[in-house]
Amino acid sequence: MKKITIAIDGYSSTGKSTIAKQLAKALGYVYVDTGAMYRAVTLYAIRKGFVSETSEHFTKLIAALPSVNLKFVYNEELGFSEMFLNDENVEKEIRTLAVSKLVSKVAAVKEVRTKLVEMQKEMGKEKGVVMDGRDIGSVVFPDAEFKVFMTASPETRAHRRYKELLDKGESVTYEDVLLNVRSRDYIDSNRKESPLIIAKDAIEFDNSDMGLIEQFERMHNYALRIIKG
Ligand code: C5P
Repeated sequence: MKKITIAIDGYSSTGKSTIAKQLAKALGYVYVDTGAMYRAVTLYAIRKGFVSETSEHFTKLIAALPSVNLKFVYNEELGFSEMFLNDENVEKEIRTLAVSKLVSKVAAVKEVRTKLVEMQKEMGKEKGVVMDGRDIGSVVFPDAEFKVFMTASPETRAHRRYKELLDKGESVTYEDVLLNVRSRDYIDSNRKESPLIIAKDAIEFDNSDMGLIEQFERMHNYALRIIKG
């Protein structure tokens, strides 16, 4: 069967990764979570003191980029890939609110994007990939056969994210999470480098009132129609 490229973009916490993982599994494709890559660079920058809520030293971060080594390692037990930063498993740490609060600033740095986009193109060059992010259909794979742009209201997304963080044992407030969702939407949509836009040929998918099973079935059927031509 012919292999295609599936690009899933959209706002933060729209459930892109859940659907992307399920689609990749059903089709036997590789799943790439590009947000994890931006999060890992952000964690590196936080640890080195290159970024905080009150300071930015992006010239230093740019100079250090060659020593930022990112790798996805498949975890058989969990059934998905985990992010490694310089050979350390950082999968849990990159999902904390502390990283979420700074990631959009780091993701706006041109040199960071150039490095990560190059890696993403390499990972998807054989097709048979489901990649989620903000600029996959517009910049990384403008020729992707299937492009989806996922959206939901900020409140719906903040509720989902708040529940997820509580389940992981983080002590956060709903208001803080909503603020983070809104602020990331703003920075991601207004940055100069590859802002979050709906690619011309993407299907818009509002899942505010849609369950996971229905979302998956719709996307899976759509992908199969494209694959079968
Ligand atoms: O998808 P996730 O919410 O984990 O992404 C974290 C952040 O990384 C986004 O808010 C955005 O600032 C950045 N990002 C990006 N381009 C991508 C993926 C993520 O700018 N392709």
